[in-house]
Amino acid sequence: MKIIENWAENNDMIINKKKCGILVVKGLNNKTDNINGYPIKNTYKYLGITINNNLDPMAHLYLVNRKLSNYLQRNNWLLKKYFSPKSLLLIANYYQISRITYGMCIFLDDSRIMDSVEKARLKYFRSIINIKDNVKNNLLRLVLCLPKMEYLLYNRLLNVVDKYREHFGEKLTIFNPILKAFNERTNAEYFASPKLRYITIKSSIINATAKQENINIGHNYINYHYKYYFRYKDRRDGLIIRFFCNYGFFNERVYPSCIYCGKNNSRKHILNDCNEKYFIDLRDKYINKINELKGNNYTKNQKFENILLKLYFEPDKDISKVLPLIKEFMVDLYILRPKAEEDYIID
Ligand SMILES: [Zn+2]
Repeated sequence: MKIIENWAENNDMIINKKKCGILVVKGLNNKTDNINGYPIKNTYKYLGITINNNLDPMAHLYLVNRKLSNYLQRNNWLLKKYFSPKSLLLIANYYQISRITYGMCIFLDDSRIMDSVEKARLKYFRSIINIKDNVKNNLLRLVLCLPKMEYLLYNRLLNVVDKYREHFGEKLTIFNPILKAFNERTNAEYFASPKLRYITIKSSIINATAKQENINIGHNYINYHYKYYFRYKDRRDGLIIRFFCNYGFFNERVYPSCIYCGKNNSRKHILNDCNEKYFIDLRDKYINKINELKGNNYTKNQKFENILLKLYFEPDKDISKVLPLIKEFMVDLYILRPKAEEDYIID
């Protein structure tokens, strides 16, 4: 303090003590609220991040979240406007998620902080595309091909390290303990090359699937996803997301039994088992179309739900033609479903 005060005095500057803050880190049981007129604080905002006396940003995340919660209302409003899922996800990324994740890459070593970042991030993604909490996080990330945020932050931190070396010609080692701890926690490649980083991020998506039942992921899924899925603004993509998240598409909650045959309602029932003529015709029509396109010999006896899952999650070179077909099917199926107000509307 003395050094700073002397320096200020020698340079004809006056320190505004009220604008300073002392953060007492660990233990000191202080009974005073200031030291030499400098206030003692419980939190301090440094480079845009509020840290507390444990040097963690939990309070910061809480505040950002509170500020952003206004957006949840606005997200609701956006949904009713003419935005495709792709645009909506971009909006959430740009206005909401970028603020939550700002500066968080230096907390990669702390899984508690990363969990809380991830939770907040998915909350905004879910809200903007109207996918509720009963869809598992893993499944949502899988359908949208979203790596966990911590892997993206890991990539961000490694980029900082790389840039520093390019610019200053020396290695930046200050983050090594953080990277090392992250690596131990997640089995990511410590100081990986960009290529290894990509594989790490990729495997974080694939690993998420291990816990999902009955979904196989093709080895091209991620490449093709980035290249073809939700590439253009298309409101039908909202139906695809809902369908593969197995969420809300058939109003299982509103109509627990099939409005056509009275059996238990589910995606599986509608796609594989329902004997309503509409569905039988629809299945046949699309099995024919798929066979025509891909030269496969899917038969009417095969479970149509499995065929669709396979087309989506195990794409091959025909994917750019298969996706429009899936969209077409979604719309046909959508028309047959019982109506409910809360759902995604196609105009
Ligand atoms: Zn039925």
